[in-house]
Amino acid sequence: MSLLLTGIAELTTNDPARGDGHSDRGDALLGVVRDAAIVVSADGLVEWVGPADEAPDADTRRDLGGRAVIPGFVDSHTHLVFAGDRSAEFAARMTGTPYDGGGIAVSVAATRAASDDELRALVAARVAEMRAQGTTTVEIKSGYGLTLDDELRSLRIAREVTPHTTFLGAHVVPPEYASDRAAYVDLVTGPMLDAVTADGPTSLAESIDVFCEPHSAHAFDGDEARTILEAGRAAGLALRVHGNQLGPGPGVRLACELGARSVDHCTFLDDADVEALAAARGTTVATLLPGVEFSTRSPYPDGRALIDAGVDVALASDCNPGTCYSSSIPFAIALAVREMGMTPAEALYAATAVSARSLGLDRRIAPGQPAEVAVIDAPSHLHLAYRAGVPIVRALDL
Ligand SMILES: [Zn+2]
Repeated sequence: MSLLLTGIAELTTNDPARGDGHSDRGDALLGVVRDAAIVVSADGLVEWVGPADEAPDADTRRDLGGRAVIPGFVDSHTHLVFAGDRSAEFAARMTGTPYDGGGIAVSVAATRAASDDELRALVAARVAEMRAQGTTTVEIKSGYGLTLDDELRSLRIAREVTPHTTFLGAHVVPPEYASDRAAYVDLVTGPMLDAVTADGPTSLAESIDVFCEPHSAHAFDGDEARTILEAGRAAGLALRVHGNQLGPGPGVRLACELGARSVDHCTFLDDADVEALAAARGTTVATLLPGVEFSTRSPYPDGRALIDAGVDVALASDCNPGTCYSSSIPFAIALAVREMGMTPAEALYAATAVSARSLGLDRRIAPGQPAEVAVIDAPSHLHLAYRAGVPIVRALDL
């Protein structure tokens, strides 16, 4: 049965051609329609979008009571498959212990020790938590297994909840390989990658990712990262990179050179990095993860400067047990507006349209698109940052 949604005070379509002509508050970028309606088909696709007074009939109707509707958030960077508790590490960091990536080994040990069903339940709870905050699409990385069997297991469990899975065997060098890093890179690019792609290039993982960070003794330098990414590309995977998180480094330029879909963090950039990202517009997205800077008490990336330079900027949570155990995109949006100089419209667009593009998706509310939308208990999307910390947005169950 088709469904007519009415009572939408403000609809963000992410489709500038569909907006109702207002240009204030970034409405042009977001394709905002006021007093809007949506018709959803029986198979969950948007059938019609526009002003409520022009809406066609449908089998059933639902009045949203004057709320704002937005495209569901696309969280394009998460590490949801993990067990264990690192809250004490967070507390220590808040009193001065710096982050260096070493704590990942704690999550690796706990994840290896957990049963499949334990991991499955943890992932399901985290996805439900995200949906309750407006996220309808999630990318999930492996990376807390770091053995062939444990990486495969993480990807299988992630695949049960999303097609957007990423092989992150190159998260850190596990402790048992600390004295022979090259052997671990060989394992990732050889047997692990072969197993991940054994049933077809993207049967288990859509992308490959690497933590390229010469400032961490546990992560990978530029040469190692290039080896890993080139192997992944040859195996048919899309590329993603953790780059320039802890200091200046080669990650951003490597990602742009290799045509990665996304380079994530982008906290410490020089002019050449920004130029490379601007030149890679349309191919490589810069995904900012301000929850990490919040949770590690680090300087925030300059979102304003990146947008002004013409870079495609996305926002994601980086939900993970070490550097940001927050699954909240509204929190990331509030930080982007308060700390990174982005307008509320730019932040919302970054967490929907641009993050979607980094997963090869189109996140507009337009005919033919899946009706993946979120509803805000407020008349405008401006309330996402304005009412920071208040649970006013959730995925709409149709
Ligand atoms: Zn990450």
